[in-house]
Amino acid sequence: MVKRTDKDTFILNDGTPMPRLGQGTWYMGEDKKERDREIEAIRTGIENGMTLIDTAEMYGEGRSEELVGEAIRGLDRESLFIVSKVYPYNAGRPEIFRSCEASLKRLGTDYLDLYLLHWRGSVPLEETVECMNELVAEGKIRNWGVSNFDADDMEELLSIPGGENCRVNQVLYHLGSRGIEYDLLPMMADEGIAVMAYSPMAHSERSRNRLTSHPVVREVAESYGVTPEQLLLAFVLSKKHVIAIPKSGTPEHVKENAEAVSIELYSEDLERLMEAFPAPNHRTPLDML
Ligand code: NAP
Repeated sequence: MVKRTDKDTFILNDGTPMPRLGQGTWYMGEDKKERDREIEAIRTGIENGMTLIDTAEMYGEGRSEELVGEAIRGLDRESLFIVSKVYPYNAGRPEIFRSCEASLKRLGTDYLDLYLLHWRGSVPLEETVECMNELVAEGKIRNWGVSNFDADDMEELLSIPGGENCRVNQVLYHLGSRGIEYDLLPMMADEGIAVMAYSPMAHSERSRNRLTSHPVVREVAESYGVTPEQLLLAFVLSKKHVIAIPKSGTPEHVKENAEAVSIELYSEDLERLMEAFPAPNHRTPLDML
């Protein structure tokens, strides 16, 4: 099991503390008109304890990393937990070393706390694992992980020498998409690998509204005095070995999201939510965006 020091922090298998609630940044940094507000949103998140920031070389082809770099400039680097991801086609030699260096430059930092393979591509996993472990040894990254890996992919990864150093698997997970609870989530818990839930607010307004307009979600949220959106985060965080990275470019939403880490849901309310949005009782393909 992943050890948990307290509600807000995990201790990864190598002893590194990792915040349980962070900020996503997909689509951020792409529209110049939104820049000031987005920087304010990221800083608001950091001030309110969301010191984990998730980005990727893919997001805006580096513009999200540049935005994050600007938002964190001048802040104490050790107080932050910066995550980036490498494109699958850059996940081999020598590309991954160049990609990592370029991400560091755009972020204005000399190390990443976590570097993820964004999804599985054609580069052999053995090669990516070797390179990731070399990046750790060089001090360019503190830890590495993967994203969009299903249970079979994880089994294969863990059978590769050095694969046991994988600390995190970032996958889609929210109240309306609970397929990972059947196999992947228990497997990651057994292996001590953290699950980082992306799209914890269901990504699109349409999918989010399907959840937030549901009478059970509204009733439960009201009874705790929280918004339905905060309840969605509280649901994901109720799973002990899950980390959530909601994206928001709106400072008011960011403040709301930051509060979700302290919402404790009673088991009967969790049951009601899970009955309203049941998990499949058989293996299903991994949901992805
Ligand atoms: P998400 O976090 O589920 O939802 C983002 C949407 O929710 C935005 O439109 C945002 O609007 C809205 N929102 C956030 N907080 C809100 C609140 N308190 N009240 C109302 N609306 C709120 O979706 P996501 O961006 O797809 O996922 C989160 C992060 O996960 C990404 O940004 C990215 O870092 C990562 N991700 C990774 C992968 C992968 O393949 N590894 C795939 C997808 C995402 P505002 O901006 O206006 O607040």
